[in-house]
Amino acid sequence: MVDMEKMFNPKTVALVGATDKEGTVGEATLKNLLLGKGKHTVYPVNPAHETVAGLKCYPNIISVPEHVDLVVVATPAKSVPEVVEECGKAGVDGVVIISAGFREIGKEGVELEKQISAIRAKYGFRLLGPNCVGFVRPAVHLNATFLRDNPEAGSIAFISQSGALGSAILDWATVSHVGFSMFASLGSMLDLDFGDLIDFLGSDASTRSIILYVEGIGTAKKFMSAARGFARTKPIIVLKAGKYNTGAKAVQSHTGALAGDFEVYDAAFKRVGVVRVDQIGDLFNCASVLDSKRLPSGPRLAIVTNAGGPGVVASDYVTDLGGELAKLSDDSMKTLDEHLPPYWSHGNPVDVLGDADVARYQTAVGTCLADPNVDGLLAICTPQGVTPAADLAAAVVKLTKDRSKPVLTVWMGEKGVIEARRKFSENSIPTYPTPEEAVKTYMYMYRYRRNLDLLYETPEELPVDMMPPNSHLKLMVRKAISEGKLLLSQADADKFLDAYNIPRLNGGFARSEEEALMVARKIGYPVVLKIVSQDVVHKSDVGGVVTGINSTETLAHEFSKLMDRVKVLKPGARIDGVYVQRMAKSVDYELILGSKKDRDFGAVLLFGSGGIGVELFRDFSIGLPPTNQVLARRMMEETTIYKALAHGLRNRAPANTKTLEEVIVRFSGMITDFPEIAEVDINPLSVAEGKVFAVDVRILLDSKPPDRSTPYPHMVIMPYPTKYVVPWKLEDGTDVLLRPIRPEDEAIESEFINGLSDEASRYRFFSIVRNLPHSDLVRFCNIDYDREMAIVATITEGGRRREIGVGRIISEPDKRRGEFAVVIADQYQAKGLGRKLVDMLIDIAEERRLESIYGVVLKDNAPMLTLCKEMGFSLKPTQDYTEVELALRLEASSQGQVQTQSQEEQTEGATGLAQ
Ligand code: ADP
Ligand code: MG
Repeated sequence: MVDMEKMFNPKTVALVGATDKEGTVGEATLKNLLLGKGKHTVYPVNPAHETVAGLKCYPNIISVPEHVDLVVVATPAKSVPEVVEECGKAGVDGVVIISAGFREIGKEGVELEKQISAIRAKYGFRLLGPNCVGFVRPAVHLNATFLRDNPEAGSIAFISQSGALGSAILDWATVSHVGFSMFASLGSMLDLDFGDLIDFLGSDASTRSIILYVEGIGTAKKFMSAARGFARTKPIIVLKAGKYNTGAKAVQSHTGALAGDFEVYDAAFKRVGVVRVDQIGDLFNCASVLDSKRLPSGPRLAIVTNAGGPGVVASDYVTDLGGELAKLSDDSMKTLDEHLPPYWSHGNPVDVLGDADVARYQTAVGTCLADPNVDGLLAICTPQGVTPAADLAAAVVKLTKDRSKPVLTVWMGEKGVIEARRKFSENSIPTYPTPEEAVKTYMYMYRYRRNLDLLYETPEELPVDMMPPNSHLKLMVRKAISEGKLLLSQADADKFLDAYNIPRLNGGFARSEEEALMVARKIGYPVVLKIVSQDVVHKSDVGGVVTGINSTETLAHEFSKLMDRVKVLKPGARIDGVYVQRMAKSVDYELILGSKKDRDFGAVLLFGSGGIGVELFRDFSIGLPPTNQVLARRMMEETTIYKALAHGLRNRAPANTKTLEEVIVRFSGMITDFPEIAEVDINPLSVAEGKVFAVDVRILLDSKPPDRSTPYPHMVIMPYPTKYVVPWKLEDGTDVLLRPIRPEDEAIESEFINGLSDEASRYRFFSIVRNLPHSDLVRFCNIDYDREMAIVATITEGGRRREIGVGRIISEPDKRRGEFAVVIADQYQAKGLGRKLVDMLIDIAEERRLESIYGVVLKDNAPMLTLCKEMGFSLKPTQDYTEVELALRLEASSQGQVQTQSQEEQTEGATGLAQ
C-alpha cells in the first residue's frame, strides 16, 4: 500500500466525470480544482467530451499522458468500479470517490462497495470515500470538493465523517476566518478512516491541531495507535455524534446494558489523550487553546475580577463543571490585604472592586499567578466608569509574558473592549465574551492535560512466572463453547475468580435439598440460597435469592418455597439446582465490576455502584484493558461512590481502595487472558469491614472461538510485552537485561544518547545528537507496542541501571515493512550485543508477519554493514547511504539481484558493531 503523501500533496490531479454543465457536481469540483492552477496540473476525464472548461478532456484515466497522483471520481455509482479499475491499471496513488449511491441505498450499493474494495486491495492505492465531499488542502492550494466554500489556510485539520455536517461547519468557519491545513470528509471509509488521517496529519508540518467529527471510528485499533502516537504533540479534539442513542440492547448483563457506545468512546478517547467536547464551537476554541504550551498542571483556578457578579457566575460554573477554586496562600492573602482597599472580597474570586485602577488590578493578577496554590487564572473585567479596559488588558498581557500558567480573559461588553480583545488575540491570550465560556475552556485544558498523563501508563502483561495457572480454565471454556453452554454456572465462574485471586464468598452448587444441607454444613450458617438456571438472568427478579438462612430447618423450608416460586414466576425455566453461599454480614458498599465487548473497541471494563439497583444509579465508569493501579484508581475516582469508598459515609467505614485497585487490575488480567469472554458481571462486589469480595458473578462466553492469529484479538491497546524480557550475557560474561522500553526509561535513554561517541551518534542519527528535548525522548520511550518495538539492553552498575544499547523496529502504518536501527554504547561494542538485538528484532518482525525489515546505514559504518551481510540482509547502496533489507517471506523477496551485486563488493569490516 502506498502512503497518503502523494494523494494529499498531488502534482497531477484528474477528475473523472468532468463537465461544463452548470449545477452538477462534476462542474463544481472542476472549478474548485482549477483554483489551484499552476500548483498542480488538472486533467478533465469524460468520454462524452472533447474539451471541458477549455481544457483537453480525456476519455479515461489510462489515456492521460502523465502519471496521475490523485483521481477525483464524480460519476454515477454504477460506473465507479470500472473507473477505479482503470485507476489501478494506471498506477495512480490516491482516489477520492465523491459519488453517492452506495451503502446508503441498500444491498445493491453494498455490493458496489465490495467490488471497489477488492479492486483497491488488488492495486494498493489509497481511497477516500465513497459518498464523501472530498478534501481541501489550503496550504497546497488544492480543493478537491464540490463545496462552494474555499477555506483559508491555517493550522487546524478538520476531519468529518459526515459531509453535510462537515460542510456546514466549514461554512461557519469560513465566515469566522478560521484557517485550515486540511478539511476532509470520510464518507463510507472503505479505506481511509480516522486512524489513517491522524497518521498523515500527525507528521504534516502545516497541522498543529486536529479536530474530528465522529459518528463511528472505523478501525478502532488503528485509531488508538495513531492517536496515542500524536496526541502529545498535536491536540486531537473530538465531537462524537449520538450521545443519547446508545442502545442498551444487551439484557444479558448489567455491564452490557450500562456501557453504551458513547461511554465506551469517551473512555477510549481519554485513554489516548484525545479531548471530547460537547459543542461544535468548542471544537475550534479547543483547537487553538490546547495547542498552546500553557496547560494547567492542576484544576485550581484563581479568578480576578473588578465586578462581583461575573466573579460569582464564574465560580459557580467552576463548581458545576466539577472544577476547583484555588485557595490562596497566606502570603498571597497578606499581599492582597496590603495593596487592595480594605473591603476587597478577601478570598477567591478576588474582587478588586469597580474603581480599581491598573496598578491594583495588576497586583491582584500578579499575586495570584505567583501563588503556588494556583494552577491557572481567569481575569474578568467589566468596563465601569473610568476603568481603562485596554490599559488593564495591556497590564495582563505583560504579566503573562514569562509565566507558564495559563491565563484566560473575559473583557465584557462590545464596543468598549474591542481594543482590549485585540491586544489579547495579538498575544495569543484566550479571550471570551462570557465567564462561562472561559471556565469551560479552562476545564477542557485541564482535562486534556490530565488525559495526557494517561499516555505514560503502560500496564503489563503478567510475567510468565506470575501468570496464574489457567489451563484448566482454558479447557473449561473450550468445552463450554463447543457445547453451546455459554453462560457459566456460578460454581464454574468461581474457578475464574480463584485463579485470578479475586476474593469471593464461600459457596457451592447443590442439586437437591440434601446436597444443599451438606454444602451449608460445610460452609457454615448463615447462608443464602440462589436458584441456578440457564434461563434465569437476574435471580432476584424471579424470587430466586433467599438470604439469612440460619438453620437446617429454615433451609429445608426455604428450599422448596424457592423452587415453587421460581416455577411460578418463570414458567418453563430449566432448573439445575441451587447455589448455597455464605451470607455476608454488615455489608457497607455494593459495587459492580464488569466487562463486555464493544463493537468497536473490544473488551472494556466497568466499575461502579452495584447491587440490584445498578441500572437505576447509573454511577459507573468505563476503562479499557490492560490496566494498572493508576488507571484503576482513575476509573474509581470517576464514580460518585468513590468519595464514600475513600472517606466513609456516615457510620460506614471507608473501603480499602488499594485492595479495590488490585482487584480491578487482576480482573483486567483475567479479561486480557480470555478473549473468549463476552460479558462478565461481578455484581455485587461487596465491601464489609474493609474487606472486598465477590458475591455474585456471571460469565458469558462468545459463541465463536476468537481469532488467535494476533496476540490480543479482543483488545485495542497492547499490554507491556513481558515476553520480550530476556536475561542475557555479553561475550565477556557481563549480565545484561534485554527488555522492551518503557516511558519511565526517559532518564537512562537520555543519558545513553548523550554518552555516545560522535561516531556512534552519527551512525544512528546521521548527525551528532546530544541533549534531545523531552518531546523527542518521550517518543523514543513511550511507544505503541503494536506498531513499534524498542528493546533496551541494561546493566546494573554501582547499584544503578544503565542503558548500554537499544534496537528498534517501527512498522510502517500498513504493516508490510518495518524499519530497524540498532545502537550500542561505544565501550560495549564488539561483544555480540548488536547481533543479539538485530536477531531479536528479526524474530519480532517475523512474529508480526512483516514482509521485510530494512534499515538505512551510513556507508562508513562498516561493522553494521558486515553484520547485516552475515545475517543475510541484501545491501542496496545509494549515493549517501546503504539500504539494507531482509525479506522475511518468500514472495516479498525482490532483492536477489542486489544481493549478488553487494556480495561482490563485500568489505572485510570489523566484526564489532558501531550501530
Ligand atoms: P441477582 O443479581 O441475580 O439478582 P445476587 O446473587 O446478586 O442475584 O443477589 C441479589 C442481592 O442479594 C445482592 O445484590 C445482595 O445485596 C444480596 N445477596 C446475595 N447474596 C448475598 C450474600 N451471600 N450475602 C449477603 N447478601 C447477598
Ligand atoms: Mg447480582
